[in-house]
Amino acid sequence: MPEFKGVARVERREDPIAPNLGRSQRRYVIPADASHTSTKRRGGARTSHHKQTFVLPSVEEPACRSPSTVSSTPPLLPMLPQILRTRLAPSAGRLAVRSFATEAVSPVNAGKTHKVVVVGGGTAGITVSHQLLRTGKFTQDDIAIIDPAEWHHYQPGWTLVGGGLKDKEDLRRPLASLLDPQLKFYNTAVDSFKPEDNSVTLANGDKLSYEQLVVAPGIAIDYGSVKGLPEALADESSLVSSIYGYDSCDKVFPTIERLQKGTAIFTQPAGVIKCAGGPQKIMWLALDHWKQLGLYDPENPDKSAIKISFATGLPVMFGVPKYSARLEELRKERGVEGLFQHDLVEINGNTATFAKGGEQVKRQFDLLHVVPKMGPAAFLKNSPLANEAGYVDVDDGTTQHKKFSNVWSAGDASSLPTSKTAAAITAEAPVLVQNLTNALEGRGPDAIYDGYTSCPLLTEYGKVMLAEFKYGGVPKETFNELFGMDQANPSKSFYYLKKDFFPWVYYKSFLKGTWAGPEGWKS
Ligand SMILES: Cc1cc2nc3c(=O)[nH]c(=O)nc-3n(C[C@H](O)[C@H](O)[C@H](O)COP(=O)(O)OP(=O)(O)OC[C@H]3O[C@@H](n4cnc5c(N)ncnc54)[C@H](O)[C@@H]3O)c2cc1C
Repeated sequence: MPEFKGVARVERREDPIAPNLGRSQRRYVIPADASHTSTKRRGGARTSHHKQTFVLPSVEEPACRSPSTVSSTPPLLPMLPQILRTRLAPSAGRLAVRSFATEAVSPVNAGKTHKVVVVGGGTAGITVSHQLLRTGKFTQDDIAIIDPAEWHHYQPGWTLVGGGLKDKEDLRRPLASLLDPQLKFYNTAVDSFKPEDNSVTLANGDKLSYEQLVVAPGIAIDYGSVKGLPEALADESSLVSSIYGYDSCDKVFPTIERLQKGTAIFTQPAGVIKCAGGPQKIMWLALDHWKQLGLYDPENPDKSAIKISFATGLPVMFGVPKYSARLEELRKERGVEGLFQHDLVEINGNTATFAKGGEQVKRQFDLLHVVPKMGPAAFLKNSPLANEAGYVDVDDGTTQHKKFSNVWSAGDASSLPTSKTAAAITAEAPVLVQNLTNALEGRGPDAIYDGYTSCPLLTEYGKVMLAEFKYGGVPKETFNELFGMDQANPSKSFYYLKKDFFPWVYYKSFLKGTWAGPEGWKS
């Protein structure tokens, strides 16, 4: 969860991008069970890291030459460079090393005016800012990024924390340390937008003007959407927890470990959330944990010490029919009770109250994993940039604002009608960047986003169903296209992508603007 407490400016470290420039290839050593972060064995003890070496392409020369040299390693990982070389072939000619300041475009900024202002330094804001820099069309302070947070979090890793596989501290970095020094960083919040005046107002009342505006402040978790939830989360003795916040994600695994018998309920709210698979990922891990301890028998759920229910505000397991059908099969095979269209509204002691249609349904629980409702923050919702639901009202294809042509959005705060994930940003960012730079040069948008998004659904320890799809819930499966793998089938290879590769590539490349998801490394 973004932190708003400490807004003190953190000193920047070395340029996170420039030191890499000019190197043709680097050898990364990745521990078998961990990448840049440590990996925990469930139960708290760390695994020993017997190191494996393989060559990954440098971020500047994506997958150009180096084949992998792997000993025993997770099945798909060693193949990645090769896979991505294939995927990158069309853009291979553009892989020359660039300097950000090569083209002499004079900076517009004088005091508090910037060529591009980016609101939000989360996954989308950082990625877009660095991809803009990498075009070579911007100089010092042309681009300003505004964010009040002290820390940046790798939020997808919080599910792994909940499953006892990672430490939450290993998944965060000081926000300022992630930003290229050529960006002007305002470590404060945006208070309001004035698009008619091409300006934003900061929390301290200062005004910043722009030529182009990128709005990416993510979405907020509404803990108040469930009565009694903040108190239950804060109560260390309660078995109520959530992977959806930095403060609460490390409460999850201890609650799973503490439950020896009784009823466990995992909830998913009606409405938009980040990573729509998250609420059930943690359930599948908990189920597996209890199964391994003999506390849950999928063949005989009624006679098991622990009973498991999935209470979701949705009518189905997942929004995409292909994956939903397989997940429903898993639910039935594993004896999990499905409480569909059950929207959690209140926690009172060990009673959970759900809204179901016009009725209220009460259920007793011994363990409750809660995913609260989420939505755009008030400063955006009440602004002229928002659509009726409060999201930045942009075109589904170009990411350009429907009313203000110099305003753009990507990530969770945008109205783009796709599942809200970091993976989606790998495909949204290059489109936004191309269309925004076109606009600065007086041309119209010509890049189109197809709605690509992805959700690595942990279905047990050691297996992931890698849902990848685009607008309309149409599957767009990278590994199906390459190897004919049906990604609705949970696989060990995808597990290592989720647990080790994605956290590694996120800080190593994604945030630096050199990772395009299924398209591989970009310049
Ligand atoms: C538990 C969990 C599991 C997830 N699992 C996955 C997964 O497996 N795969 C996947 O791809 N995605 C996953 N996601 C989703 C992914 O993390 C988000 O979709 C992604 O981080 C969204 O990026 P963003 O930049 O839009 O928002 P964020 O990364 O949330 O960043 C928003 C930024 O805006 C800043 N901000 C807020 N208000 C203001 C303001 N007033 N002024 C200026 N700045 C402001 C915040 O401080 C923050 O830094 C998961 C998320 C969670 C919580």
